[in-house]
Amino acid sequence: MAQTQSSIWPEGRSFGLFLSHDIDQIHDRELCHVLATANHIRRILVQGESGRVALALRRLGRILFAPKPVEQDFQTILEIEARHGFRSTFFVLHDPYWSRNGPRYRLTCPELRRIADLIRKAGGEIGLHGGVSCFNRADLYRESRAALRAALGVEVEGIRNHLLQFSGPETWLAQEAAGFVYDATFGYSDRLGPRDGRTHPFFPVDPATGRTLKLVALPLTVMDVTLFRYLRMDGSAALEAAWTAIEPIIAAGGVVALLWHNNYFNDPEYRDWQATYEHLLERLSVRNPWCATGAEIAAWWRRRADVLDSKETEPS
Ligand SMILES: [Zn+2]
Repeated sequence: MAQTQSSIWPEGRSFGLFLSHDIDQIHDRELCHVLATANHIRRILVQGESGRVALALRRLGRILFAPKPVEQDFQTILEIEARHGFRSTFFVLHDPYWSRNGPRYRLTCPELRRIADLIRKAGGEIGLHGGVSCFNRADLYRESRAALRAALGVEVEGIRNHLLQFSGPETWLAQEAAGFVYDATFGYSDRLGPRDGRTHPFFPVDPATGRTLKLVALPLTVMDVTLFRYLRMDGSAALEAAWTAIEPIIAAGGVVALLWHNNYFNDPEYRDWQATYEHLLERLSVRNPWCATGAEIAAWWRRRADVLDSKETEPS
């Protein structure tokens, strides 16, 4: 390709930045949150799970007696990102069937509508956090898209499956058939850096037919849970490990994709999670990325592919 790596992103920027948040829960005072926190305290005491008992107890008290206002974490995230002129994508969890790990809020609850308004006002995107019970069924993805359309008035273009559930091309084929423009699921939950070394957005190929899908895959670089839960890092170690995963993508002129969950903000026990996000954004901002929503990045990648295709088919 004759293009230099620095020319593949808009505005002459040398790499892309995709900030994202999976909304697994929105209510602080919620039975599962109470039980999970109580269990966490028990595991710290009995099984040596990492954590801080005093701070976890403080959280339990807060949940029970003075829960965080529902919008607070979203306001914090948007404020942190706005410091750098960044915008992000929020994936709203939906599944038609109840499951233990499924959504803990209804799409129709008025709080979610207020959150969606905040996101939209800030120029953010709303996508679907789906694939909870079945992640290879186009009909269920369609059902979720329709539910988000009815509840929030959005025509979602992007999806990330809950718990990064993914089984290869059949997941992408089902998502494409349901009308999604891009998928943000492709990544590791137990280690850092892009899956299969994929530093750039890409179009998956159906191995059965050899067809290149229209769906764009945006590979994940770093997720908060990977750093702090699976790898049990904290403070500066987490920041440096995340940065070590990010730097090669910047060097390759690819897309850096971060996933930070909303429910770990504004919580003393998880202050490292928030601080690491803030520090990563500061470092990234200095490197001057093209930061856009997932839909904007996918649209750019599609347009770019069309231009490259038409050049290839031009008579010489
Ligand atoms: Zn999730």
